[in-house]
Amino acid sequence: MQHSVSIRDLSLNFGHVKVLEHLNLDIAEGEFIVLLGPSGCGKSTLLNCIAGLLDVSDGQIFINGKNVTWEEPKDRGIGMVFQSYALYPQMTVERNLSFGLRVARMQKDEVERRVKRASEILQIEPLLKRKPVELSGGQRQRVAIGRALVRDVDVFLFDEPLSNLDAKLRSDLRVEIKRLHQRLKNTMIYVTHDQIEALTLADRIAIMKNGVIQQLADPHTIYNKPTNLYVAGFIGSPS
Ligand code: ADP
Ligand code: MG
Repeated sequence: MQHSVSIRDLSLNFGHVKVLEHLNLDIAEGEFIVLLGPSGCGKSTLLNCIAGLLDVSDGQIFINGKNVTWEEPKDRGIGMVFQSYALYPQMTVERNLSFGLRVARMQKDEVERRVKRASEILQIEPLLKRKPVELSGGQRQRVAIGRALVRDVDVFLFDEPLSNLDAKLRSDLRVEIKRLHQRLKNTMIYVTHDQIEALTLADRIAIMKNGVIQQLADPHTIYNKPTNLYVAGFIGSPS
């Protein structure tokens, strides 16, 4: 079977520090994978390697069967949403959504079609003429998701997209991300240190510690049959 994303024996060192060690992970098409672990365990580093924002020290990354280990980020067929919104402050929401497509010289009607579809899905149509400074945190994060959505990619990468939001917004957007996945049915790799997010969103959870995956299983199994004390302690303790 061809996987949506395959990670083969991936290692990454920052100087002498081994941040990821011989990591392997196969993700099926349409699967929602959560990378869960405490701060500093290497979640963002792994995601950035998949996105092509960091060069790996060793190993390979395949997306839809193609070896993308040394491909440019824009050629990998992925969209990424970060914890901080990373919107262009001087541009309207509409411009923020369309900018990347315009740079790629996409046809104007196709750009408009995609912006319309993404803003409908995320319910941000009333905000299209506003600037980021005129938006709430939750609205900004919707726009950030929209920017990944307009690219029509197979694989979405999320790096703690809800961490900067208050509890109520966090749970609202969690539900929305779940709905988005049910609608789009694309592959999602979602980084968090929040156990609740992991248990409610994931098809499978990869529990990480010091750059190594400790257990990879569905939420029920992780919760009820942790393979070691680390996993049991981490998933059992409140965030
Ligand atoms: P997480 O996202 O799980 O909190 P990170 O992937 O950001 O963890 O970081 C993993 C480890 O790599 C940490 O020990 C961090 O200090 C280190 N690290 C991250 N980025 C760099 C960098 N650019 N240079 C050196 N060390 C880094
Ligand atoms: Mg991180």
